[in-house]
Amino acid sequence: MEGGGGGGEFSCRLCGLSTPFSYFGQKPPNTRAVVLLEESYVMKDPFSPDKEKFLVLGSSCSLCAKSVCVGTDCSLFYTRRFCLPCVKERLDQFPQQIQAEVAKKK
Ligand SMILES: [Zn+2]
Ligand SMILES: [Zn+2]
Repeated sequence: MEGGGGGGEFSCRLCGLSTPFSYFGQKPPNTRAVVLLEESYVMKDPFSPDKEKFLVLGSSCSLCAKSVCVGTDCSLFYTRRFCLPCVKERLDQFPQQIQAEVAKKK
């Protein structure tokens, strides 16, 4: 996937959330010191007059590459982004803290 630029429609493959995004990558434009931990779908925060404010909508799972939103029911971030189905499949490979978090969800 090419880094940077873009714009289009982001949709979460798990919950079906669908929303336009303005940028995909790690360094949103018009922000001075922001570097995201992962390549993300972002949009300018429509509720803020501050040009540097933006919202992170989602990212892609580092295992299955599905687009997933950052909602806690869809994905989690542990050094990389993982969708919840992938986490559940490999739960024993995640630290206790993550296992406990996932166990709380259901
Ligand atoms: Zn979602
Ligand atoms: Zn996945």
